[in-house]
Amino acid sequence: MPLSVVLAQRPHGRARDSDFARVEVARRPCPAGGVRARTRHLSIDPAIRGWLDDRPSYLPPVGVGEVVRALGIAVVEESRHPDLAAGDVVRGFTGWQEEVLIEDPARWERLPDASTARLGILGMTGLTAWVGMGDICAPRAGETVFVSAAAGAVGSAAVQLARLAGARVVASAGGPRKCELLTEELGVDAVVDHRADDWAEQLRDATPDGVDALFENVGGPLMEAVLDRMNNRGRIALCGLIAGYNDVVRPPGPRNFGLLVTKRIRAEGFIVADHTDRAARCEAELGAHVDAGRLRAFETVVEGFDSVVPTFVGSFDGGHVGKLVVSLG
Ligand code: NDP
Repeated sequence: MPLSVVLAQRPHGRARDSDFARVEVARRPCPAGGVRARTRHLSIDPAIRGWLDDRPSYLPPVGVGEVVRALGIAVVEESRHPDLAAGDVVRGFTGWQEEVLIEDPARWERLPDASTARLGILGMTGLTAWVGMGDICAPRAGETVFVSAAAGAVGSAAVQLARLAGARVVASAGGPRKCELLTEELGVDAVVDHRADDWAEQLRDATPDGVDALFENVGGPLMEAVLDRMNNRGRIALCGLIAGYNDVVRPPGPRNFGLLVTKRIRAEGFIVADHTDRAARCEAELGAHVDAGRLRAFETVVEGFDSVVPTFVGSFDGGHVGKLVVSLG
C-alpha cells in the first residue's frame, strides 16, 4: 500500500521525528476529472517548518493528522482528465505521500521532464532567487551585493544572478567547506563564515565599500551586522529568516532598524507564490543560462521515501549544499 507522512503533533521548537507519523493508505480510485499520480521527487524546504505551526500565515497551517504539505514532482499513472495521460509529469503540492490524487489538475503545472532541477534552479527555488535579486536587489554593475545562506538552494542561485548582473558579490555560509564552494565554484568575490569566531571582522574586511543590496535568507546577528554596513539607498530583499524558524519565542528584531530611515534603505519581503505568473519566463531565462554554462545548479539528493522525515528534521543543521530533494525513484 502507498505510504504517507502525516503531522502527528505540532512541533515545539525544532521538529523531531516523533512529530510525524508514517501511515499506509489504501489504494484510492482516480477522481472524476482528475488524475492519480506517483510522487517522484519531494522538495525539502525550510518553509515547511512554518506551515506546521498553528498561526496565520500566507498558507493555512497543516492540520494534525493531515499529510505534510510539500512541493513535488509526480508522474501520472491513471487519468480521467482530457489533457493528461499516463506518463505525463506534473509539479505541485504533492505532500509527503507516495501516491497523490489530483482532483483539480488545472492548478498543477505540466513539466517536460521529471528532473530534480525542476524543483531547484528551474523551479520554485530559481524563481525565488530571480524575483528577489531581479525585482528587489536590482544590482547595478560594480555594486556590492550580500547574500546570506549562500550555499543553500536559494542562496546559490542568488549569488550567481548577482554576478551575472555585474555586481561584486559577498556571501555567507557556515564552515570552510561551504565557503570554499562559494569562492571556487560560484565565483563569489569574498565570503563570511558565520560559524567562525571572527565573522564580524570577516564581514568588515569583505565589504570595504559597504553593501548596496542585501538578499536576506537568515536574519539574526549577521543580518544586523550587514545592516550596519549598508550604503545610502540600499535595497533589502527579505526572502527568509531561517535563524528564527525553530524559536519558540519570537527572536528580537535588529536593534539598528532605524538605519532604514537614516540611510533611505528600502526593505521588501516577498513570497514566491505571488510570482508564478512569471515562472515560465524565469524558467526560460535561467534555463538558457544553465545551457550556456553561465549558471550552475547545485543540489543534494537523498533517496527513498523513508528519508523524508529525517532529511527535513536535519535540514536546519546546514549539512547540505544547494537544493535539498528527496527522490522516491
Ligand atoms: P536551504 O535549506 O537550502 O538553506 C538554508 C541554509 O540556511 C542552511 O543550509 C544553513 O546554511 C543556513 N541556516 C540554517 N539555520 C541557520 C541559522 N540558525 N543561522 C544561520 N544560518 C542558518 O534553504 P533555501 O535556500 O531553500 O531557503 C533559504 C531561505 O529562503 C529560507 O529562509 C527560506 O525560508 C527562504 N525562502 C523564501 C521563499 C519566499 O518565497 N520568500 C521561497 C523559498 C525559500 P549554513 O550551513 O551555510 O549556515
